[in-house]
Parts: sequence; C-alpha cells; structure tokens
Amino acid sequence: RQAPQEPLPAHDLNRLQQKAVEQIGRSIAVIAGPGAGKTKTLIARLHYLLEVRKIQPEEITAVTFTHKAAEEMIARMGDTAVQEKPNRHKSKGDAKASVRIGTFHAICCRFLQDSGLSFVIADTGLQMELAEKALREFERKASPTGFLQKLSQIKNGLSEPDENHRRIYEFYQKLLQESGAMDYDDLLLETLRILKNIPEDAAERKSFSYLLIDEFQDINPLQYQLVKEWARGGRELFVIGDPDQSIYGFRGCTPHIFQYLSEEYPCHITIRLEDNYRSAPDILKAALNVISHNQGERRQMRAQKNIKCPVRIVSTQDERREAIFIAKEINRQIGGIDMLDTRNTEEGCEDTVRSIRGFSDIAVLYRTHRQAALLEKCLRQEGIPYQIAGREDFLTERDVRATLYFFHQAIYPGEKPAEELCRKLLANYLKESPALQLAYLTEKYRKKVKKSRPAKLLEEWLKEISFENEEPIKKLADMSILYPTMESFLGTLSFGEDGDVRRNGGKKFTADAVTLMTFHGAKGLEFPVVFLYGMDTGRFPLEIGSSSGIASVEEERRLCYVGMTRAKEELILTCGQEPSCFLQEIPEENARWERTRDAEDTETEKPIQLNLFDFM
Ligand code: ATP
Ligand code: MG
Repeated sequence: RQAPQEPLPAHDLNRLQQKAVEQIGRSIAVIAGPGAGKTKTLIARLHYLLEVRKIQPEEITAVTFTHKAAEEMIARMGDTAVQEKPNRHKSKGDAKASVRIGTFHAICCRFLQDSGLSFVIADTGLQMELAEKALREFERKASPTGFLQKLSQIKNGLSEPDENHRRIYEFYQKLLQESGAMDYDDLLLETLRILKNIPEDAAERKSFSYLLIDEFQDINPLQYQLVKEWARGGRELFVIGDPDQSIYGFRGCTPHIFQYLSEEYPCHITIRLEDNYRSAPDILKAALNVISHNQGERRQMRAQKNIKCPVRIVSTQDERREAIFIAKEINRQIGGIDMLDTRNTEEGCEDTVRSIRGFSDIAVLYRTHRQAALLEKCLRQEGIPYQIAGREDFLTERDVRATLYFFHQAIYPGEKPAEELCRKLLANYLKESPALQLAYLTEKYRKKVKKSRPAKLLEEWLKEISFENEEPIKKLADMSILYPTMESFLGTLSFGEDGDVRRNGGKKFTADAVTLMTFHGAKGLEFPVVFLYGMDTGRFPLEIGSSSGIASVEEERRLCYVGMTRAKEELILTCGQEPSCFLQEIPEENARWERTRDAEDTETEKPIQLNLFDFM
C-alpha cells in the first residue's frame, strides 16, 4: 500500500527477526502470527543475501502470493529485481542480472517462455468458451464453471476423473492447445514436467538456488511439488507463513504444510517470532481468542503497540442498516470527530494515534464479493471515495478480452497466439481485411503503449473501434486508472489474486479511497481502521449447503482471524441479524457491544441519525 521504500536498516529488526535474516541452512521456515514482521523479514533477508553474503542476484527467486506484493517488493529492491511478466522476448535492459520476484504463475510463465514455448495464458473468457464447446461436443448439459472447477481439481491432483469425463477433458485440452493457450494450472504442470527432466546441476535451475516464499501456508499441493522440484538442485529454501492463516482449503491448501516440509528435510530449521507490531493489544487479544477455538496449541503473541482501544461490535437490524452505519461511521471518522482521543485516556498509552483519518486508512472486508453491492451504494450516497477489489463479470466479455489481447500483443511483439485470438475476437469489427487492419493498429499503438497511461490508451482505443456496446470497455478504462502502465495493468489481470484486481468506485479518480475487499483478498495487508461487514450467522461462517463439512468451520475461523488482524488501531465488526458465533469468542474485556439507534425505532418514524435510502 505504500510508496517505494528505502531498504530497511538492520536495527529495525528485533533479535529473532535478525536471526531469521542471517540463518544459514538447507531449509528454513519462519512461522509466526499475523503482524510479526514475516514479510518484512523476508525482504530484509533478500537484501542480506545480496549485500552481505554477496549471492549473485540471478541465483535468487522470491515468490509472493499477490501480484501487488511482487510489485512492492520490486520497488523496494530497486535495480536488482526484475518482475516476472508475460514477456518472452527479453529486451536488452533485461539482460542484466536480477533477482526474480513474482507469483507462482508469473514465475512459471517466464520459465516456460525462457524454455522456448510460445503460448498465451487462457483468460477466464477463453476457458469458458472452450468448456462450453467441449460440453456441447459430448452433449453434456453441465455448467462450464462447474466443469472448469472440476478440471482444476483434477489437474491439482485433488480428484480423479471417471472414463466419461476424461474424454471431455482431453477434448478441452486439445481445444486449448489449438488456441495456443495454457490455463493457470497448465503453467505449473508444464513447468513441473520440464523441470523433472532437467538434471540437478543444470543451468536452468540456477535462479532457484536461493528460493524465498511468502505466505507458505497457502501453497497448494501442485505448488508444493514445484517448490520441492525447484529446491532439489538448490542451496537454500526459506519459507515464511502462519498455519493459522491458511485460508485456501478449497484449493487443497493445508495448515500442515510446514510439518510436511520439516519431514522432507531432516536438517530443517524453524524459527518462531512472537512479537506483534501491527495491532493494538485489544485487537490482538480478541483475534487470538477467536483462533484459540481451533484445535492445536494455544496461540500467543506479545503486542508491541500500546493503544487502548477496545474492539467495537455493532449490531443493527439488517444488512442495509449495517451498510449505512459503516458509511456514516467512515464519514464521522474522516470528519475528525475523534473517538480514539476521547477513549485514549488510560495511563500508559505511549503511542499517539492519528486523530484525523484519510479514506485510504480504512478498509471494509466481507466474506463474499456479492455483499459489496449494498456497501457500494451506501458509500456513494455518502460521497465516500472507494476502491473495490475482485474480478468482475465484465472482464469475460468478448470485446474486453479482445482489447486485452490486443494490448498484450502490442506490448510483446511476435506473440502469435495472442495476435490470433485478438483477430478472431475482433473479426466483427475488422471486416475488410482483418490481418492488415490489425497490423496497422498494432503498429500505431506499439509506439505509445509503453509511454501512455492505460486509461488514455483505452480512451483512444474506444474511438478506434466502433464497439456495439461501449460500456464494458469504459468500465475497463475506469479500472485501468489505478495502474501506472498498461503492462502493470495486464500483469495484474494475468497474475493477480483476489485482492489485486481493483476498480475505482466513484466517478472521479482519487488516490485517497476506502478499500472494499473480501477477507481472502486482504491477506498480508494492513490498515489503521478495519470494518468487518456481515458478521452474522449464515453469512460468516458462510453456509454453503450440504457439501460443507465440519472442517470448514475451522477454515472460516482462520479467515476471521486473518480479517481481524488486518487492523492496526481500530477494529469494528458489524452484524445485521443474529451475531456470528465468532463474535461470541471475543473476550468481553476487549470489546464493546453497541446497537445503532435506528430511525425506525423512533416514534416519529422519520430518519434521525440514519438516512434510509431507496433500496427497494
Ligand atoms: P501477515 O501475517 O499479516 O502477513 P507479517 O508477519 O508478514 O504479517 P509484516 O506485514 O511484515 O507482518 O509486518 C507488520 C507490521 O509490523 C508492518 O507495519 C511492519 O513494518 C511492522 N514491523 C515488523 N517488524 C517490526 C519491527 N521489528 N519494528 C517495528 N515495526 C515492525
Ligand atoms: Mg506478510
């Protein structure tokens, strides 16, 4: 979330963090709760490897969970880092030695391109299109989404296909291949396949000699295979994470992954950090108490912050009033009416708390993306600028996909599969001589695609092609405002996770905006003020019907733990109906329960505190 930072001086770290930075070993894990400075330690170790141990940058690879984290890390590393992006043709500038930083997918994509493969990453739109085709071919009525989910499970080794299904899957793979495309799972599978045939001391493995991985608790079985394969010829594997923050069980991830790793390497070293630098003590205690309801040893962390500010639990009558409360509360905080100062009277409070908030200090988290619509409406009503994270449906629309492929092939010349797909998708608009017209357009944009802002490029693009419906492209342009270059925008769309892909909420762009995202999307991030929206029975833990087993309550609790521990100074949980069981797990001494005074409770029946908007 921050601007590029200076490398951290060593004295910024505590003793154990410093130990983790300097530790030499074949396999090292740093396990610690949220806000213990794991990510900070990983970055410090990168610097230490380069500057003190004088490891060559090209021998180092760092894997991040999100595209944004990779971008931030690269900004901090300065010249020694290179981002993994969909670019098979190294330009001259890339030739110099550099640390590789990226998500699993980005690193695999680059590896495959360096191995000489020519392909395009299949976007969701293409996957859906081909899935529909495959299902039609075999006269199946199944949903393409379900088909793709199942296929992904199979590719990840989580499920076995029966003979009937196998034929459809093979057909789908053939269609993918014909399009010159690979889906996300294929990127990993193909990398693994190639690596397995490469001897341990081969040059291709050199860049994985020193392998560092953040958020290790959320690597899935296929990624774990890959890590082991990378590490096979390597020298040092360094992973950091927190089993209690493992929240991707549906992708096959498990909190036990650290244990598996330690069994893999007999000389494995584990370092545990126990100080929390992020959250106020009440927030930390509340979160620790919640997670302690999961099986396993008691969790302990010492809070380093000294702010007295109980967690607020606010109950309202329904979801709508809950959203209104949040919007009003945000405006109140921005207005500078400072709750913290008035509450911050107890002795021993050394830290001073910022009395006036900016919008970007605030995040609102929810369990499912669907819950965002109501919040958006309320924030707009209150005139609050916001950014919303998550993939939206318009991204799979034909014209949007055509546009993205167009800019992709304009940035990376010679990408035949992308060019081909783009031409196919634009066929309706380039009637006369598609190939010529496309070549002309590409040439025209190639010059400016690296220099102009993506929003400006898309604005011009809209004038270039008379799209039947301009709305989706306009939405795409709105979204692109948040990205400095077209390359960064495309990179985010290709390799981004839940929290990466963002859109600007208001009409006008402002950098100072409230963040709206799912609990999943907020992983690794922190904000001074965090609202957790929808803390009701049924909504959280989420009831997803009969398929949800008992194990999922523990996973939901971990998700709750992740959400709560994003907050630095203030945590406000809201519920609209029956309070979630997780709220009962917050100790009384760390929380304050409130009920909103609701307009409809009053005799006048006129809104007094809250505006009741027209939602019906
Ligand atoms: P998460 O599990 O949520 O990813 P984390 O363990 O990766 O958390 P960081 O994000 O690295 O934690 O650090 C949390 C916050 O604590 C950051 O604001 C960081 O700058 C700060 N911090 C970490 N270590 C120290 C330290 N030794 N001194 C002061 N501040 C620190
Ligand atoms: Mg982290």
